[in-house]
Amino acid sequence: MKSRAWIEVSAHNLRHNVRTLCSALPEGCQLMAVVKANAYGHGAVETALLLEDFGVQAFAVATVDEGITLRKAGVRSEILVLGYTAPQRACALSNFGLTQTLVDYDHAIGLALEGHPISAHIKVDTGMHRLGFAYTDIGKIEACFSLRCVSISGIYSHLCVSDSLREGDVEFTKAQITRFGQVLRELRTRGLPAPKAHLQSSYGLLNYPELKYDYVRVGVALYGVYSVPDAQTKLRLDLRPVLSLKSRIVHISTVPVGDTVGYGRCFTAHRECRIAAVPVGYADGIPRGLSNGGGQVLVKGKQVPIVGRVCMDQLTVDITDIPDAGVGDEVTVIGSGGTGEQKAEELAHMAGTITNDLLSGMGSRLPVIVKE
Ligand SMILES: *Cc1c(COP(=O)(O)O)cnc(C)c1O
Repeated sequence: MKSRAWIEVSAHNLRHNVRTLCSALPEGCQLMAVVKANAYGHGAVETALLLEDFGVQAFAVATVDEGITLRKAGVRSEILVLGYTAPQRACALSNFGLTQTLVDYDHAIGLALEGHPISAHIKVDTGMHRLGFAYTDIGKIEACFSLRCVSISGIYSHLCVSDSLREGDVEFTKAQITRFGQVLRELRTRGLPAPKAHLQSSYGLLNYPELKYDYVRVGVALYGVYSVPDAQTKLRLDLRPVLSLKSRIVHISTVPVGDTVGYGRCFTAHRECRIAAVPVGYADGIPRGLSNGGGQVLVKGKQVPIVGRVCMDQLTVDITDIPDAGVGDEVTVIGSGGTGEQKAEELAHMAGTITNDLLSGMGSRLPVIVKE
């Protein structure tokens, strides 16, 4: 690999995760693969095409442009846009056959007035208070079914504490589930056609596996990681990490005692140090919070600390304790390298964030290499 840094996607582990997740779904429920934000850093096009090969027939993205990118790359399955799309773009939704989320009634009317036939899912707010029709607003939800040009093929809501098994959080989630159920029942009572219903994302599935809807919208679990290290979930699945982030040592400096490393001179050598430059930085998604002892990487299977500040395109690590490390050696930021492994959950934790944030910020400028 000649790149300065790259992302490796394991097709094998992705296939394994699809099979594992699908076997945990109730009869008739389909996996909707969430591939927003460049498939959480895994490369949206590469990932979606692999997933289609593995039999996945529904995708979710955040924006209309993410959907268009997938269509242009040849993805033929259903693609749901989870976020708001301006009515002026109804033509693009229609031309590319994307399914749009209706975030409220005004949004629905705006889209309908454009006069391009589109397919849509109604978003219901059951307590998160981000997007959606209030679950009590059945009249407006019902009205969407008679809009011209907007055909309702689905209805969904989103759980906001399904990752937590604390008593109060479970109670809240159960209230959300009940409210969503009420909406579905009310629509049935009013004789409306039953659209596809979905409620759970990764943790919704892992902590409430007994629920039975038409889809689960799975993101982070599909990529084989949890949001935080040592996550406790009701359903324990054997999910395997799909992404590795690697680079190479390109230069080694010998730093005398008392000298400093990098911007702001925040690392001082208290012994003579060998400092390796690694050409990957925060513009590649490495959190700047991992600077100077905040994080580590693997060289020859061993952990070495990041010293000095993480720069936009580079970082520096202290390899004094690995005397046989040299220029050209592989550096593992995420994934397994030699005998060691650095989990995305751990790196995210070191940076004070969750895996979803870490991964989705990754790789906008790194090549993605798909490995069997
Ligand atoms: C991002 C997102 C998902 C996927 O969430 P994960 O926790 O990664 O599984 C599902 N539904 C909605 C509405 C989302 O925005």
